[in-house]
Amino acid sequence: MGFRQRTIMAGELSSQHIGERVVLSGWVDSNRDLGGLLFFDLRDRTGKSQCVVQPTDETALLYEIARKLRSEFVVNVEGVVRKRENPNPKIPTGEIEVVVEELMVLNESEVPPFEVKEDTTASEDLRLKYRYLDLRRPSLQKNLAMRHRIMQTIRRYYDTRGFFEIETPVLMKATPEGARDFLVPSRLHPGSFYALPQSPQIYKQVLMIAGFDRYFQIARCFRDENLRADRQPEFTQLDVEMSFPNEAMVYDVMEGCLAEVWKSVGLTLPSPFLQLSYHEAMSRFGSDKPDLRYGLEIQTLTEMIRGKTEFKVFTDVLEKRQGVIGAVVAPGGAEWSRKQIDTLTDLAKVYGAGGLVWIKVTPEGYESSAKKHLSEDLLSDIKTVCGAREGDLILVASHPKWERAYTILGALRSELAKRLGLLEGKQFEFAPAWITNMPMFEEDEDTATFTFKHHPFTAPDTQDWHRRSEGLGDVRARAYDIVINGYELGSGSIRIHDRKMQEEVFDLLGLTREEQLEKFGFILDAFKYGAPPHGGMALGIDRIVMLCSGTDNIRDVIAFPKTASMQGLMDNSPSPVEEKQLKELRLEVKLDKSVEKPE
Ligand code: ASP
Repeated sequence: MGFRQRTIMAGELSSQHIGERVVLSGWVDSNRDLGGLLFFDLRDRTGKSQCVVQPTDETALLYEIARKLRSEFVVNVEGVVRKRENPNPKIPTGEIEVVVEELMVLNESEVPPFEVKEDTTASEDLRLKYRYLDLRRPSLQKNLAMRHRIMQTIRRYYDTRGFFEIETPVLMKATPEGARDFLVPSRLHPGSFYALPQSPQIYKQVLMIAGFDRYFQIARCFRDENLRADRQPEFTQLDVEMSFPNEAMVYDVMEGCLAEVWKSVGLTLPSPFLQLSYHEAMSRFGSDKPDLRYGLEIQTLTEMIRGKTEFKVFTDVLEKRQGVIGAVVAPGGAEWSRKQIDTLTDLAKVYGAGGLVWIKVTPEGYESSAKKHLSEDLLSDIKTVCGAREGDLILVASHPKWERAYTILGALRSELAKRLGLLEGKQFEFAPAWITNMPMFEEDEDTATFTFKHHPFTAPDTQDWHRRSEGLGDVRARAYDIVINGYELGSGSIRIHDRKMQEEVFDLLGLTREEQLEKFGFILDAFKYGAPPHGGMALGIDRIVMLCSGTDNIRDVIAFPKTASMQGLMDNSPSPVEEKQLKELRLEVKLDKSVEKPE
């Protein structure tokens, strides 16, 4: 006998259904025997409803089946909805229950390795191994439902604005985006490899050259990097490209999309986004992805201190062209113990500071780690510039390189925010910003060579480009990032569309003309045949879902994520392959012991 067709979902039942006959299908969430009455909660992806089996002469058979129910059994229930005697205000269906008249067990379940409940204490590894059980938990069901909603919103948004969704290859030629490629050996071309895309960057540019004008794709990207809490080796990007754009047009279309996305899941994203140049973001917040939900802005003291002290720590920095002295204020921090301040000094050192100067503003005057070297007048000026008040602690850091100095101060700023609890209750408050005028190149301090900051297809600021001979470090790019709450949500740029300029950028990055042709010949060629000006951006969808769902674990928003050591615990990937497969590829596995195994 087949089972009855479901008439409603378990989470949708409410007092408005009282008296109705319903059919539910789902899993037994929990069951209990209350002196004759048997209760079980039936769960599906919308929630759960209480079902009750009363022992009567007619229900004897039913009762027998119900008595044998266990958690995670799959059941089909028909019954009548009634008001509960003891309502449970904690769950949406808490006012009603279903009096069971028919019950079918569609499948049994062994005792699961952990209980499927929201506040499970099972380790993440165990949950990843039995991911299908873990995914039955309401929060993960909710996150993936939200992910679906977000994807649909994105697709509708771009479709209505004339963007075509076009797929690009997953097996492609290795092209650099700054990370390591995943490689796939070719059977028909033994010894040759495809790379999995780090992003569809080059293809989307080629699509613009091909005249598609506006493109988007929800694309899977692959980067073989060591993982962090908010990274995965394969991740999903919303990839966008437009022909004939300027920055304002890209900002408008991306901001509009994010506003719609936030709205579609019941949240609000303030718009228009703040725009901060890279320099301003660094010098005010000490990061190119600042969390703007709180203040604690950095104050630059460099010029104010110049000539007012012999303190070597400061004078050494002041001698350097790029040297910066700056401060952050911890409101109420004057009370902190020596030990509490020492941990801040240690943190500053981790970020590259030689040390940290602290100043306490107390009712009795200033206390400071550098009191000997700083006059009362100077301490007073620092206090004024920093806007510090009695009871506050001022932390002063310095470094001969400006970005490093601000990075140290930025790390202190975030630590202070944590200590002071400034983010409490702000999980669903969002502070988005554009970070603009990014540097074009990044210097490797050890080798004094330059590499690209964004990717090598990014157009330089025209005026800076004319002055490039004065120093590559000062050339800014027409690149931009969106940051929200301390996360970089994505980046983009206006691209180079001129072959000569592209070649010159490759030259500056140290690629010989032969290497350029070998790696990028096809796009350099394409530039010869009428490439329109173009530009775009990509946003991390996993991160968007993380922000909207309020989790800081990227694995909570991906159905089948990898662990931090890049393993799929459910399917046991990666794994060795059969000899036969290797033979077909004409490959032999011989591990080179001289190369260190990565951590
Ligand atoms: N391809 C770039 C990235 O993945 C984004 C872009 O420039 O559009 O970061």
